[in-house]
Amino acid sequence: MLPNYDLNKIKFATDGPTFQRAVGLYEGGKITKVEEFGRGYAAIVLGTESYHVSVSARNYKHGNCTCYFGQKDTLCKHMVALALYVVRGGQLLSAEDKKQSHHVECGSRREALSGEEIKSVKKSISLGMRYIKPYTGPSRTWFSNQDSLMEGCSILSAIVSDLPVNRPSAEILIKLLLRLDKKLCEGGVDDSNGIVGGFMREVVQVLMEYARIDPECIKAFKLLTGIGNTCFGWEEPLVCESR
Ligand SMILES: [Zn+2]
Repeated sequence: MLPNYDLNKIKFATDGPTFQRAVGLYEGGKITKVEEFGRGYAAIVLGTESYHVSVSARNYKHGNCTCYFGQKDTLCKHMVALALYVVRGGQLLSAEDKKQSHHVECGSRREALSGEEIKSVKKSISLGMRYIKPYTGPSRTWFSNQDSLMEGCSILSAIVSDLPVNRPSAEILIKLLLRLDKKLCEGGVDDSNGIVGGFMREVVQVLMEYARIDPECIKAFKLLTGIGNTCFGWEEPLVCESR
């Protein structure tokens, strides 16, 4: 049975500390006696004690663990470690595999992307955008809705951080900001935790860095003239820069 998730999914949807501890368990060979059962997997994960752990094949966040957190229905490092084992079968993880990208960085490349590459970037952006979902209730679904926003922003962060610094990339980023703005203003996304807003501010910072590295990028900021009110005025530094 193949799980519905892969390493990227686990990376993007797990908070940093839990993910790193899970990697520690995985690399320490602490996941033992792994077996499939029903629609999931079970194992004994060795820690302070031996924990009985299970995760669903559909969603690794659905499962059980006999540790303190697991008993409180909180995702624990043992469940994530088992999920890692399920997707990687005990193979070594590379440094890249272990790197989570929750933060947006300015890319280090400058060269233009090919038409094909631009297409694939746009496709990945659309995929990430799907996780920026409206919150429609009931209230017990709020946390999973917020997880989904975090997952979307993590996927988008990885894409943004990988773009070369040039005008076409700047245009892609401005359009991304406008799409997110629309989701926040009219799309019913509940961003009271500031997950999406925080991501947007980071993208604006990256664009300001673009402008310093390659002033040609500032021309892309013109896309923002006359757009009217945005949800929280994120565009102001960019509009100022383009005057
Ligand atoms: Zn646990």
